[in-house]
Amino acid sequence: MAVAIELGLRGIRTLVCEPRSVDAYGIAKVNLVNARSMEHFRRWGIADRHRANDPVPADVARDLVFSTRANGKILFKAEGAYEWRERMPIAAETPEWAPFEAIEKSLRTRLLELDAVTFIEHSSVLDFTQDAGGVQVTYEKDDGQVTVGANYFIIANGPHSPQRRKINLRLEGRTLFHNTSWYFHAPELKTLFEKTHLCSMTFFLNDDAFGDILVPYGGDHWGYYVSPIPEGVDANDWNQVREMMFRSVGQRFETSGERGWIWGSHARMARSFNYGRAFLIGDAAHLTPPFGGFGMNMGVGDAADLGWKIAATLEGWGGPRLLDTYSLERRDVCKFIIDGSAHNNTVWGKALVREHMEEDSARGEQVRAEIRKVIVEEKTQQFRSLGAQLGYRYTGSPIIIADGTEPPPMTYGDYVPSSVPGCRAPHVWLGADDSLYDHLGWGFCLLQQDPDIDVAPLVEAAAKAGLPLKVWNLDHPGVRALYERKLTLIRPDQHVAWRGDTLPDDPGHVIDIVRGAAQYR
Ligand SMILES: Cc1cc2nc3c(=O)[nH]c(=O)nc-3n(C[C@H](O)[C@H](O)[C@H](O)COP(=O)(O)OP(=O)(O)OC[C@H]3O[C@@H](n4cnc5c(N)ncnc54)[C@H](O)[C@@H]3O)c2cc1C
Repeated sequence: MAVAIELGLRGIRTLVCEPRSVDAYGIAKVNLVNARSMEHFRRWGIADRHRANDPVPADVARDLVFSTRANGKILFKAEGAYEWRERMPIAAETPEWAPFEAIEKSLRTRLLELDAVTFIEHSSVLDFTQDAGGVQVTYEKDDGQVTVGANYFIIANGPHSPQRRKINLRLEGRTLFHNTSWYFHAPELKTLFEKTHLCSMTFFLNDDAFGDILVPYGGDHWGYYVSPIPEGVDANDWNQVREMMFRSVGQRFETSGERGWIWGSHARMARSFNYGRAFLIGDAAHLTPPFGGFGMNMGVGDAADLGWKIAATLEGWGGPRLLDTYSLERRDVCKFIIDGSAHNNTVWGKALVREHMEEDSARGEQVRAEIRKVIVEEKTQQFRSLGAQLGYRYTGSPIIIADGTEPPPMTYGDYVPSSVPGCRAPHVWLGADDSLYDHLGWGFCLLQQDPDIDVAPLVEAAAKAGLPLKVWNLDHPGVRALYERKLTLIRPDQHVAWRGDTLPDDPGHVIDIVRGAAQYR
């Protein structure tokens, strides 16, 4: 849906096949739309809509808590871990923690508003072929089969995609372990957090060491996650799973409407995200362990990278090598996030449990302080991951013009703004709700901080190539502080493509590199 929105907003005719009906939203799994994805939601006009779609009431604190039992002892509390209470200077949006249904609803309703997008419910893609002229895609609907021709085919149907198998791009890597998720209705459960803290996510650490989590979904709906499934437990048997949950909560309570499934934590990726006219996106291209909340967010990042490149190619200004850079740029970023998220899975459950941790004594308090220290050292990056959210860059891409400067080191936890080519253009608030990003437009943007530079040759070169370019003269102290050059060329996905204090000797060559039509000399 994300890439269809990206294309639809650019007026590119797009057909979306979906087996589910138009208003059937998937089972709750994702919650975290991170700051970077929310910036894309803002660009697509749905950031506020998405916040409004969150069904979880305000009395559920958007915090993360490690607790011995629901009515036990708090070991660690990360306040505002999943939703910043205040606007951040470094990003146009704060992360939003809302159930999967809300995310699907926000995207789906936007998709349906776009004239260029046709959404076909109850349809499943069966097969595709491709040649130099285009693709032929066959889908099934109402017991009949339809074959359509298109320029490109985007494979977005998750990790078990038969279409990906057809081009033999396997999800290579490893499976870390197997987990279970159960959803149920339990009106009484929220009242059992009186001694602790009702919040977005409660991680239980206790003598039982189940490695389990409770998440409220609003309307007395809850999610219970166990990761990994303990030996000897049949995770398909709700009675067994429920007994674990009762132990961790510390009390029995009524439940109804239970449904659950077993799933794997994987660190896997295809060796290329594109083959000819077919593109892999989202879980069809990569799988990350969920601690960190990056799976869907990586897919949104893919969409932001791929969307403008397909549009540019179809509009004629994208060069012949532009589409190949999708895989080159995204694979490195996904690998970085997958590796960091795999680390988040290493210290969990049994590894954080200590003898006497639940004791009501000085010894118990000391043990809990030790555990708190380990949580801070080992787990902080799981819920303070602005480096992975905002700091990823495409510095090594053939369509980025390096200027010999090294960007700050890329870490999962911390984000340091940088305008080095390849990095996400640093964010600046220009006014109350006036983000620098709101002014960049849908094409390239030349941010000019010295009005005396004659940029006409670059503008002419862009016009000659058909590349949409906006020149934006801006004199703002916040921008001056973060953008170290007088000229910064920003791509449609808000990454810096080139920067300098003077125009390049050959502006046409710069334009050709950034649109995938030429290489460095
Ligand atoms: C417990 C858990 C918690 C998670 N939490 C987070 C989180 O907080 N943040 C985050 O970013 N990620 C999270 N994830 C990961 C996230 O759920 C996935 O990365 C994300 O759902 C992948 O989206 P996708 O659209 O690529 O694939 P899917 O969600 O698998 O969607 C595939 C789509 O393809 C459709 N489809 C299937 N077959 C066909 C066909 N033949 N033709 C056409 N359409 C078809 C399906 O109906 C579906 O709509 C979590 C995962 C788990 C398991």
